[in-house]
Amino acid sequence: LSPQDIEQDADSALGTGCQGVVQAGIHKPTGMRVAIKTVKVDNREKRTQMLHEIRGLIQAAGCPYLVQWYAGFVAKEASLVHVVMELMDRGSLADMRRRLDGQGVPAERLACVAAQMVRGLEHLQTRRLLHRDVKPDNVLHNLLGQVKLTDFGISKDLNSTVGVAGTFVGTASYMSPERSLGKDYSFRSDVWSAGMVVYELATARFPFSTTSFMELYEALCNAPEPRLDVESFPAELCDFVEQCLTRDEPRRPDARALVDHPLIAPQGEEEIRALGVWVATHPD
Ligand code: ATP
Ligand code: MG
Repeated sequence: LSPQDIEQDADSALGTGCQGVVQAGIHKPTGMRVAIKTVKVDNREKRTQMLHEIRGLIQAAGCPYLVQWYAGFVAKEASLVHVVMELMDRGSLADMRRRLDGQGVPAERLACVAAQMVRGLEHLQTRRLLHRDVKPDNVLHNLLGQVKLTDFGISKDLNSTVGVAGTFVGTASYMSPERSLGKDYSFRSDVWSAGMVVYELATARFPFSTTSFMELYEALCNAPEPRLDVESFPAELCDFVEQCLTRDEPRRPDARALVDHPLIAPQGEEEIRALGVWVATHPD
C-alpha cells in the first residue's frame, strides 16, 4: 500500500485526539475505505521510531479483534506521521456512549462488546504485546457489530493521557492501581482498564467521581473497588467487572484466563450480528 494511492476525503474528520486527527479516505486502486490518522511528531528520531513500531504492528496484524493497520509513512514537507488503517464506520465506544445519551448499553449487547475486547487483549498477550492505553476512544466498532482495539503498542510518550509534566490531559483515567503507583504495565493492567470501560458502558457513568489526578490516585488506592449493582445487572456481568476491577494485581485474571469467563465464552457470530443490528438503531 503506497502513500500516493491514498486519497483523503475533504472535511471528513472522524475524530480528534490529543496529538492529531483521524480522517476518512479511500485506497484508490481498490476503492476500499480507510481511516488516516495524522500525528505531528517534531523529533526526527521519534518519527523513525514510530514508523518502526507501526511496521511491527502491521506484521502483528490479522486478528479480527484488532483494528488492522495497513501502512505508515512520513509526509515529506512536514513533521507529520500518517497511519492508514481499517475504517470502523461507527467510531469508538466513546461515540457509542455519546449516542446513548445517558443510557447504559444493554447487558446482552455489552457482553458481546466485552468479549471482543477480551479476545483482542488475549491476541496481544499471545504476541507478548501490551496495549497500555485501553479506553473508550481506543476501542472502535462498526455496523457489522465488530469491536476492535486500536492504538496499541505505540510508545507511551507518543500516545499518552498523562502529559509531559505528569499533568492530567484526559478527563477520566482508565489506569490501573499499580500503574498509578508507577509500576510497570502488565497484561493485567490492560484488563483493569477494560473493566473500567465495561463498567462505564453498563452504568453510563465513570466509576470514580474524581476531578484531579490526586483524587483519582486516592480512589484507585483506597476507595472500594467499583462493583455493579447485583440487583440491576446479570450475575455474569457483575462477576466479570468484579474480576477485572480487582485492585490486587496478582489476584486479577489476565485476558487469557478471561476468555473462558461465563460472560465471554458464549459470545459468537450470532451475538456479533445482533450487536450490529442494535448499533444501527442508534444513529448520530
Ligand atoms: P489519543 O490521542 O490519546 O489516542 P484518541 O484515541 O481519542 O486519543 P485518536 O486515536 O487520534 O485519539 O482518535 C480520535 C478519534 O477518531 C477516535 O476517538 C475515534 O472516534 C476516531 N477514530 C480513530 N481511528 C478510527 C478508525 N480506524 N475508524 C474510525 N474512526 C476512528
Ligand atoms: Mg486513539
